[in-house]
Amino acid sequence: MSAKTKFLMLLIPALALFSAAADAPAPFTLHQVGPGVWAAIDNPAAKAARAGANAGFVIGSDGVLVVDTFENPAAAQELLNQIRQKTNLPIRFVVNTHYHLDHVAGNNIFAAAGATILAQQNVRAWERTENKKFFGTKITPEQTAMIESLALPSITYQDGIQLYLGTRQVIIRSLPGHTGGDSAVFIPDANVVFFGDLFWNHTLPNLIDASTKPWIETLDIGIQNHPDATFVPGHGEVGRVQDVKDFRGYLSDLRADVAQAQAAGKSGDALTDAVLPELQQKYGSWDAFAYFAKPDIHYTDQELQGKKRIPQPLAQ
Ligand SMILES: [Zn+2]
Repeated sequence: MSAKTKFLMLLIPALALFSAAADAPAPFTLHQVGPGVWAAIDNPAAKAARAGANAGFVIGSDGVLVVDTFENPAAAQELLNQIRQKTNLPIRFVVNTHYHLDHVAGNNIFAAAGATILAQQNVRAWERTENKKFFGTKITPEQTAMIESLALPSITYQDGIQLYLGTRQVIIRSLPGHTGGDSAVFIPDANVVFFGDLFWNHTLPNLIDASTKPWIETLDIGIQNHPDATFVPGHGEVGRVQDVKDFRGYLSDLRADVAQAQAAGKSGDALTDAVLPELQQKYGSWDAFAYFAKPDIHYTDQELQGKKRIPQPLAQ
């Protein structure tokens, strides 16, 4: 199954969620990770109506901040409903941890609810353009229109920004690796890090836009600065620092295994065939292995050769 096919499979039938039976599995499950801090974890049991990625929210003394808005508006609407069951404070901010559609497709729901969307500046540059590639060359006019009508961040930053939900501090920091426009959201008084797709918990990552060398350095920053934190990943369950270390190990092993195969003169399918069993042995039990292992090898091969196409950042 191609990346595009799976993406569409997750995306399109979600529209049917509105008419789903009342006892249908929820698109996500809520997990309290601190006082007033909630992780919304994608629920695979919801099948086609699943959220497609994780999100979360933070309730401060005068408002709410939401981290990411899922892969479809129906799941985002359900997140808004769940927030409304916990507080009537205004939804003041949405942070998009990066531009990928599975984290921004519900932006319009929260914009309509009055939230200000903020993100690293490249998210604004890429959200309505780079997202089209996930549909391939057969993108329909409806899909193009959907991408081009996604609510954009109206506040952007280069390196980071600090917010206050009344008395509650939120520290947002841009970090390289996954797309070149990713942010981590840290809640100091709860010791929670929303790491977006900089962290996939025991799940193989999508490396389509990745630079794995700076990504490993980003993970080292998280590991060193937050040894006791709760980490909310972009995909997979809520984790601790050991889970972040495990993910760092995957990227590190992937780079080493690909480099070794390159040094042995392998390329193309032969390189993939050489690396895959090594990854399988160590990471075959991780989520999305069957789906992302081969593309991960391919993209890392390109990256190590200096041939990888990645989205171009805005001039600084
Ligand atoms: Zn994602």
